[in-house]
Amino acid sequence: MKAVVINEHGGVEKLSYQDHPLPEITANEVLVQVRAIALNHLDLWTRQGLPGSTLPMPHILGSDAAGVIAAQGELVKGLNTGDKVVLAPGYSNCHTCPACLAGNDHLCSQYKVLGAGIQGVYAEFVKIPAENVFPMPVGLSFAEAAAIPLVFLTAWNMLVHQAQVRPGEDVLILAAGSGVGSAGIQIAKLFGARVIATASTDAKLARAKELGADECINYAEKDFLAEAKRLTNKTGVDIVFEHVGKATWDKSIRALKNGGRLVTCGATTGYDPTLDLRHVFFRGLKIFGNFMGRKSGLAEALRFFPHKLKPVIDTTFPLQNAADAHRLLMNRQQFGKVILTID
Ligand SMILES: [Zn+2]
Repeated sequence: MKAVVINEHGGVEKLSYQDHPLPEITANEVLVQVRAIALNHLDLWTRQGLPGSTLPMPHILGSDAAGVIAAQGELVKGLNTGDKVVLAPGYSNCHTCPACLAGNDHLCSQYKVLGAGIQGVYAEFVKIPAENVFPMPVGLSFAEAAAIPLVFLTAWNMLVHQAQVRPGEDVLILAAGSGVGSAGIQIAKLFGARVIATASTDAKLARAKELGADECINYAEKDFLAEAKRLTNKTGVDIVFEHVGKATWDKSIRALKNGGRLVTCGATTGYDPTLDLRHVFFRGLKIFGNFMGRKSGLAEALRFFPHKLKPVIDTTFPLQNAADAHRLLMNRQQFGKVILTID
């Protein structure tokens, strides 16, 4: 089969469209013919490589895919060849630790994400445990379906399972133009919250408004902390949805009302912000860290597509042009997901 692989870590020039062996499935796995792939920042970090990385090469990037079942192991039930499916992007083969038994396999020490710790989906075919395979919502294209899993799984876990958003609450969604931000806006609205979204351009904020954002802050022109305070009569917001990191962390903490919750899934601008702990204890703040989420959260979110929740796609490229797609994501000019397709 054809795949986009890296033979060593580095820049976009390391992405190579080449032949790769077809994956061999085990009894409880499914072979999926990939039709569309969504990029995540994780793809960029994996390509560049972390210090001490021992990823076997060649390595296939990519966590998000939608496609068609091409073959299945003899123990797989309830799935059929030809089914259109979307893939949950992570799993653990442990199944026995307390986290796995509670359905929190994303907290298992053996949890792996497609394209990061194991081979990914920038390929014509991918193998995956049957438990990670979900029917594609009716009415979506492969590209739209591929845009869902990682960001909606993550945003659902952040807002629903961790911060436990409630109707009427004020939720500040940072960097609304990102994949996880555009998912966060929609999920917060689905649960009846008032969404205050930030972005760096008015064009991105117009898109955020279309997704349901009630208030928009152009953080390139206005201080988002001052605006969040103004919009909440100086009280502060109930929930801050963080994934920006160092550039916003201090203001995110200050934007919370007393007893407020901050939930974070990333640090794209830097992972070592300063934190004035007096805000945390004097004001009773709660800080939730979040990496990926329960597979059940993806199953719950998928029920709301395409009517209540919508995949957000910026640009689509053929798989061979993965380097162009990486450049687009690196430039942070996109709104929503960057997609690769295979005809
Ligand atoms: Zn486990």
